[in-house]
Amino acid sequence: MDRVALVTGGSKGIGYACAERLLADGFRVAICARNAGEVSAAAGQLGDPDQVMGLRCDVGSAGDCDVLVPAVLDRFGRIDALVNNAGVYTPVPFLDFTADTWDALMDINVRGPVLLGVAAGRAMRDQGGGGRIVNIASTNGQLSEAEFAHYNASKAAIISLTKSMSVELAPFGILVNTVAPGWVLTPLTEPYVASLSEDSLGRISPLRRVGQAAEVAAAVSFLCGSGATYITGTTVNVDGGLTAMHPAI
Ligand code: NAP
Repeated sequence: MDRVALVTGGSKGIGYACAERLLADGFRVAICARNAGEVSAAAGQLGDPDQVMGLRCDVGSAGDCDVLVPAVLDRFGRIDALVNNAGVYTPVPFLDFTADTWDALMDINVRGPVLLGVAAGRAMRDQGGGGRIVNIASTNGQLSEAEFAHYNASKAAIISLTKSMSVELAPFGILVNTVAPGWVLTPLTEPYVASLSEDSLGRISPLRRVGQAAEVAAAVSFLCGSGATYITGTTVNVDGGLTAMHPAI
């Protein structure tokens, strides 16, 4: 029986690397993103259409979330892993927040993972139990970055949500964990990473480098795999030691 994984935001960056890794692990993989052309190009690049499907979906839209998991079930017949990876990161100075700027990010970064967690969790339960959900947070859920109050709060919410989900879904054998990346080179961070000096590299990781998307995907793959049967409700930081480092020394 082929296992099936759904990776949101799988057209590029960390999501694409997760899809690539889960395919190599033997999963059939569905990816989604808002840009239909990019998601279908990414699905084509990932591999065989029998093993990969690309879907247009905005996880910030409740209507899109409602139809995403059913579309995966229609095509692949089951779902064994959900990687809630899609997320946005746009600066807003705290005193400029409006209800709309706050909600727009929260709808994508928090409400989407909740709605998809419900849909995937119900499907996993109804197909006999068992399954994995990995929510992608950030070190920003533990340390705050100026001008990103909404993003920081969204990622703290993901860490808390993971704990709640792990407790409520445990009776169905569904294990739920968070992966929290530090600075990782992706289209999202490319402009910032390109401007980093030697000195700032030392401040973002004691390893003095940014991470690669494949290094995050390796943690996701482990949490979705047969070696991770007694891990649930926890956060795995893939941050090159950023959160272990004293900020002032
Ligand atoms: P990225 O390079 O910008 O890629 C984001 C992916 O998500 C794209 O496929 C994008 O496609 C999709 N996406 C964005 N909004 C979406 C929405 N509303 N609905 C569906 N898909 C959506 O980002 P990344 O760096 O890989 O980041 C992935 C995740 O890791 C995010 O949750 C981010 O917060 C987290 N993270 C990243 C870093 C880092 O250093 N890169 C660090 C910590 C945490 P479309 O634009 O076409 O929708």
